[in-house]
Amino acid sequence: MRLIKAYKNLIRKNCLPQGDPESSGISYWSDKLFAETIIYLLPFSIIALIPGVYLSFLMHNYILGIFDLTIFFLILSIGFVRPIKIQIKKVIFIICMFSLGIFLLYQIGIGGPGLIYLYAANIFALLIFPLRFKYLWSIIILLIISIFGLLIYYDLAPHLTDNPNSLNEWIVVTSNLIFISFISSALIPKLFIGLENTILKKEQIQAELNIALQKTKEKNEDLENFTYVISHDLQEPIRMISSFLTLLEKKYDKFLDEKGKQYIFYAVDGAKRMREMILQLLDFSRISRNENSLEMCDIQKMVNDIIVDNQKLIDNTHAIIKYSKLPPIMAQKTPIQHLFQNLITNALKYKKDEESPIIQISYKEKKGFHQFEIKDNGIGIESKHFEKIFVLFQRLHDKSKYEGTGMGLAICKKIIEKIGGKIWVESIPKIGSTFIFTIPKA
Ligand code: ADP
Repeated sequence: MRLIKAYKNLIRKNCLPQGDPESSGISYWSDKLFAETIIYLLPFSIIALIPGVYLSFLMHNYILGIFDLTIFFLILSIGFVRPIKIQIKKVIFIICMFSLGIFLLYQIGIGGPGLIYLYAANIFALLIFPLRFKYLWSIIILLIISIFGLLIYYDLAPHLTDNPNSLNEWIVVTSNLIFISFISSALIPKLFIGLENTILKKEQIQAELNIALQKTKEKNEDLENFTYVISHDLQEPIRMISSFLTLLEKKYDKFLDEKGKQYIFYAVDGAKRMREMILQLLDFSRISRNENSLEMCDIQKMVNDIIVDNQKLIDNTHAIIKYSKLPPIMAQKTPIQHLFQNLITNALKYKKDEESPIIQISYKEKKGFHQFEIKDNGIGIESKHFEKIFVLFQRLHDKSKYEGTGMGLAICKKIIEKIGGKIWVESIPKIGSTFIFTIPKA
């Protein structure tokens, strides 16, 4: 097996120009076909060579045997000698095929394999040479056949003419070969032209796609910069609104009636939520700018720290968080921490009224990536919302029931996609949800 592979590689190296199949188009495939022809021809030609040579020596037709062997060694040299140019190798190959046909025809006559070799030479030439020569090979066959006809007519090859009707027989048999050769010359190139057009079209579509992709990338960058600038610059006025509203409330407390105080409360609350959204939007736009370097992240410790940070919420909800054997991984620490933080707080937040949250964090090692799962026994999600919840500002609940901005999962998705991973949810309403994400191994 190994030997066959090495043999094929060697012939390909010797008979196939180095190039990019995508950019060289049909000419690459024609060269490839030539290399593959040589690969298969060498071992298979032994099937015809051994009996041919054996028979020729048996019949004392040594010239035929020697000729067969010469052709075989010439083809062998095409495959194994490197420095000869590929175009020259192709010409040698086709000359070998045609001369084999002529020689066999001359030696054995119409009943031998000469005509088959001439036809094979035509097909090989059509496959491995440029299409502009497509009729040349049929014309060469026509010439060879005509010369043989003349030899028979003028009785110059007596061994071919022992039959009194040999010229008629010659014309009948060979006219069929000429007919098939011309038909092949006309039809086979059509296949190549069709293929070439398809390849060209594909390349054109690919080029258009690349341009569109580049434009989208640039637009995306513009949009991200815009989001960043806006969310960054809006922070200050929002902070001013809420602090002056608070001052207003403090200073004019005694002049305000209950309604006035309520209006100020709503305004402060609105400003607070807007600030929260702007901060998250800033986080969202920072992900693409994030140039954090890879470092060893102890996930077990990371989760532990998140639990400590959320201890108050955990105590209030009597939540149980189970996790073990979370491995250290190479990753960007800040975004990964953000990810776990978002998913764990969501699992705590979207709990059933009547049940305390039970959250299970687990790890599976997969080929090429790490896979983490955060499973809860919360309210669950209907399958029709599985995609929607990862879109910016998409929420399934009113803020009076569950607080939030609808950005947490969009941020998680962006973090994961930036590092080449995937995130998805599996959930059954009223039973619970499992958020699964993968991180490629660094
Ligand atoms: P937020 O929590 O701020 O609303 P997210 O992007 O984190 O925003 O979540 C989007 C929506 O997905 C939430 O409004 C909620 O309906 C749903 N969701 C997220 N996590 C869970 C969960 N663990 N269980 C049930 N629903 C969830």
